[in-house]
Amino acid sequence: MENFKKLGLSLNTIDALRKKGYEEPTPIQEKIIPLLLNGEKDVIGQAQTGTGKTAAFGLPLIEKLSAKNRSVQAIILTPTRELAIQVAEEINSLKGKKKICVAPIYGGQSIEVQLRKLKKGVQIVVGTPGRIMDHLNRRTLKIDQLSYFILDEADEMLNMGFLEDIEEILKHTNENKRVWLFSATMPDRIVKVVKKYMGEYEFVKVSKEHVATDLTDQIYFEVNESDKFEALCRIVDVEADFYGLVFCRTKVKVEEVANRLIDRGYDAEALHGDISQHQRERILGKFKNRRINILVATDVAARGLDINDLTHVINYSLPEDPNFYVHRIGRTGRAGKEGTAITFVTPAEYRRLVYIKKVSKSSIRKEKLPEVKEIINAKIDRLKSDLSDIIEDNNHENYLKIAENLLENSEPVEIVSALLKYSFNGEFDERSYSKIGKVSIDKHGKTRLFVAKGKSADMDEKKLVKFIKEKTKLKSLNIKDIKVFENFSFLTVPFEEAEIILRYFSKHKRGRRPLVDKAKDRQKKKG
Ligand code: ADP
Ligand code: MG
Repeated sequence: MENFKKLGLSLNTIDALRKKGYEEPTPIQEKIIPLLLNGEKDVIGQAQTGTGKTAAFGLPLIEKLSAKNRSVQAIILTPTRELAIQVAEEINSLKGKKKICVAPIYGGQSIEVQLRKLKKGVQIVVGTPGRIMDHLNRRTLKIDQLSYFILDEADEMLNMGFLEDIEEILKHTNENKRVWLFSATMPDRIVKVVKKYMGEYEFVKVSKEHVATDLTDQIYFEVNESDKFEALCRIVDVEADFYGLVFCRTKVKVEEVANRLIDRGYDAEALHGDISQHQRERILGKFKNRRINILVATDVAARGLDINDLTHVINYSLPEDPNFYVHRIGRTGRAGKEGTAITFVTPAEYRRLVYIKKVSKSSIRKEKLPEVKEIINAKIDRLKSDLSDIIEDNNHENYLKIAENLLENSEPVEIVSALLKYSFNGEFDERSYSKIGKVSIDKHGKTRLFVAKGKSADMDEKKLVKFIKEKTKLKSLNIKDIKVFENFSFLTVPFEEAEIILRYFSKHKRGRRPLVDKAKDRQKKKG
């Protein structure tokens, strides 16, 4: 608590923090709060998901706003409805006795409800860009007397294509307001965009070394695509209390994996962008209350959601962007508890793993998937320990009579086995698992690249190397077997470097095809 006091917060909010059970500020809160309280400049704050960015801006906001003035003094834009609700709730829980009203404004809730709230007068509006625009167009929301304009999860908002909406919303605002921007990642294009709308600003970053990923044990398993599902089941089964998020890259995959889990009897649900607002809230509620213990989700759907204490994060498929990997796994190993991040890697994904390892500076260790015997033994051990807990707690009195009755005419072993079969069906049967095939990954592989430039574009071997180095900013490049033809060229590089080169050129396409691409087999032979 002392450390919160030092940041310059009032007794009122300190009291609210105490009630919430926050004891110490997180690193981003420690850095940001004094700056927002005392500074005059705009602020960009960057810290990984789960590091308490909401309170980092929420607390100063509560301190700064006037309770007497009932016009909208601050607007907070968030990428999703859940986040809008979550942020509004967090602020409400931090405001203590101060009479500040917060209205979450998001699509999916009736406009009338929102109108009523707005009419009463609120100081803080938290909303998604779309619905905020609706209200601005209907003139039911005025934001021309703002003191603060806040973008939460700014990177995600841009990813979701909200840029134009944000710019449009900004047009409805007054000049002299402070802009605060929070984000887990800070790609160049965001900085470029927001600079247009910011005055002099301070940039505060808490890098990932300071957060909980050290508490996350990172493991990967090599599997073939067709065995991923079986691998997932084995991992869930071998754990005593699996409570985890399973990430897939597409909605279709999320649906597929969740449905297969449900079919196999797991308590799982899917979460992705096509699921209705009502459903999403219901699913999240179920997950938070642990009525389900597996949530299969896309990155965007799970982004920013405040789910704590996960035992596992599973990368069913690897994300394209290494930052996403860091976010995903940052959801476990929180609040001082250890967690495990598991990644499935197919031969096709291996390159991406190497790349992610390199960029995120993570140490990810390879392990073997649990054998069926191990899993069944683990289940039996669990059963034993659960049984002795029940006996110890003396909670089984009601059943003693029935047990005596059952044992009257049969052997104990017979009866217990029958009971096991009755209650657990296939649970302890090795045959309920399928075989997992061998994986072969060529780890020292090289990649043959095709470059759509040749002699006709004034290329020779030297120029080609220089061109690629300059573009990709790769300092040392281990290029071999360069062949320059009239209209195209070929070269071979180790696959980590190939991955970086391919990424660069697929991002900076000029025509339909990237300038540098993987050589097709037919081309390889030619080259
Ligand atoms: P972010 O926006 O950085 O992803 P959140 O603001 O959603 O993170 O906070 C993540 C979780 O940490 C929430 O459950 C929040 O209540 C909790 N939290 C935030 N600050 C603290 C703190 N100082 N002490 C304990 N828990 C905190
Ligand atoms: Mg957040």
